[in-house]
Amino acid sequence: MKKIVSIVSIFATLLTTQAQETMSTKVISSNPFFNEYNTPFQVPPFHLIKNEHYKEAFLKGIDEQKKNIDNIVANKQKPTFENTIIAFENSGKLIEKVSTVFYNVNSANTNDEIQKLEEEFAPIFSAHSDNILLNEALFKRVKFVWDSKDKLKLNTEDAKLLEKMYNNFVRSGANLDPISKEKLTKINSELATLTSKFGQNMLAETNSYMLNVTDINQLGGLSNEILENAAATAKTKGKEGYVFTLHNASVMPFLQYAENRELRKEIWTAYKNRANNGNENDNNAIAIKIANLRLDKAKLIGYKNYAAYSLQESMAKTPEKVTEFLVKLWKPTQLKVAQEANELKALMAKEGINEELQPYDWRYYSEKVRKEKFDLDENELKPYFSLDAVTQGVFYVCKQLYGLSFKPVKDAPTYHPEATLWEVLDNDGSHLGVLYMDFYPRESKRGGAWMTEYRAQQYKNGKRVAPVISIVCNFSKPTENAPALFTFDEVTTYFHEFGHALHGLLSNVKHKSLAGTSVVTDFVELPSQVMENWAADPEVLKIYAKHYKTGEVIPDALIKKLEDAGTFGQGFATAEYLASALLDMDFHTTTEHINGKAEAFEIASMEKYGLNSAVIPRHRANLFAHIFAGGYAAGYYSYIWSGVLDTDAYDQFKKTSLFNPEKANSFRKNILEKGGTEDPMELYKKFRGSEPSIEPLLKKRGLDKL
Ligand SMILES: [Zn+2]
Repeated sequence: MKKIVSIVSIFATLLTTQAQETMSTKVISSNPFFNEYNTPFQVPPFHLIKNEHYKEAFLKGIDEQKKNIDNIVANKQKPTFENTIIAFENSGKLIEKVSTVFYNVNSANTNDEIQKLEEEFAPIFSAHSDNILLNEALFKRVKFVWDSKDKLKLNTEDAKLLEKMYNNFVRSGANLDPISKEKLTKINSELATLTSKFGQNMLAETNSYMLNVTDINQLGGLSNEILENAAATAKTKGKEGYVFTLHNASVMPFLQYAENRELRKEIWTAYKNRANNGNENDNNAIAIKIANLRLDKAKLIGYKNYAAYSLQESMAKTPEKVTEFLVKLWKPTQLKVAQEANELKALMAKEGINEELQPYDWRYYSEKVRKEKFDLDENELKPYFSLDAVTQGVFYVCKQLYGLSFKPVKDAPTYHPEATLWEVLDNDGSHLGVLYMDFYPRESKRGGAWMTEYRAQQYKNGKRVAPVISIVCNFSKPTENAPALFTFDEVTTYFHEFGHALHGLLSNVKHKSLAGTSVVTDFVELPSQVMENWAADPEVLKIYAKHYKTGEVIPDALIKKLEDAGTFGQGFATAEYLASALLDMDFHTTTEHINGKAEAFEIASMEKYGLNSAVIPRHRANLFAHIFAGGYAAGYYSYIWSGVLDTDAYDQFKKTSLFNPEKANSFRKNILEKGGTEDPMELYKKFRGSEPSIEPLLKKRGLDKL
């Protein structure tokens, strides 16, 4: 997942009284956001940043951007690309400086004070943004430049910046009458508050539950490593025995290995019902309100539904195209899921369980079938995937493809002791940027894995400004007896996030608004997902998958098993994913307000598509942060859309050689360096020589022979 820090495009205003309070604050220079960062590579001075600095800097930053905008509008000269578009691009430096830190820390290491501030500022930022995007005098200038674009002879990148900015105004309602503008401002403000609350509820609910087991006899099937982790968690929570939580790194292994069906059911029920318990953290009503407000917004701006509005800025372009694409994949997926379910049921029957296959059985029996069919046990693999080994693997692939190298940076400030900093060097030894990496779950971190940035790449006065990038994950932790050992899923997620990081690090564009991952949502997963292919390639596995104790390279037999098992379980994985993608489209293609609970909407939607009863959507409505607390509304399909691109792209290497230097160079020059400076399909065609084919994707997921 790529986190969208929307504040980069949050353009500003604010309540005068608060601004005045700021002016009377005496010790301004003690606020690190007001100074140049005097740290290695100008990373944020996390060690100096205190909670109270954010508010002060937010208020000052909003005020500053307001003045920037006033200056642009007050300019007596005719609007030009420089005095309007570039001036606007450069406005709001302070707000950007503080909000990138704030929102990234809020995701990775939050606390009550930060969460309160987030809530307090959500409507303020929303209003600030609206005040800019609905500023008539400013829009008039932008429109003047837009209308004269043919005469300006702009280069491709400048033209793209102008187009993006103009569209942003229009899509934000700049053409509306004053009454509609006012309505829109209100909707945006409500949406900002609701989406931040949605995410906070999820975190609270994930942290609020634990399964505490004191009798080890109840925990048959779990490996020593899983038990050690659970014992360590119990210790930190002041409990006896073993504690399992709803964080994926804890609940997923439990569902995969715990023999005790009742306990599986118990933790599974808690897992899927987070934010669905009717308490103060319930997301049912919030999700519906968000979907309805988005519909109102889309209609106000002139679209039939939110998906039509949102998809205009995508490769897919229309909701019809997306749904058609998803349904095309849905059919073979259903067949494959039914096949898989039958295999699991057969094994259950063999064990004397003649009940319906339930969602809390799926991972457990799937693991058993996998072991039986392919003799592959996840636990057999894990010792070869220590944090160090996998990191070396990622670095190796980056070296082979792009000549990059990585140097640890000691003594640089970080936002949490577990986050490490690396300097990234290009093939000629020159500095490309820096990268934070932060791997383990904690209560202050939200779930999932994502890439984000503290500073986007750009050019200033002809000099490349190096980016500060970060990846944040929730992987298996080290135990007292062993280093962190990853599941294969975690390994591929690591490569995935690293792919996003490369998009940010290798970016080589002029304007920060077009840098790195600032591309349309259904293109953004190409650089990340393509990296997953190298993670799984036997040639590459032999380089990095080394036993943490003995240093022994992963045996051929184990690689063979991994390969054979390649499409195993893909029916389930694709079905639970597509179910969420379809649910997302249903929420955002409705043309009428939705009534009732989000859960009921989800159930009706899944009945319509005929989802297998032993599978639930990967993200249930109440827990669908991608669409209700992130930037993927009507965009969750992007992963599989990009999947067509990434499997096709990787096929280009596989057909020639794994690290084919010309192809690698072309991928770097045409895709990774270009950010959002050109139309994504044009960029892809420059790399590939043609549009992508869907066949490699179907083959990879075992959906081609059904
Ligand atoms: Zn991603």
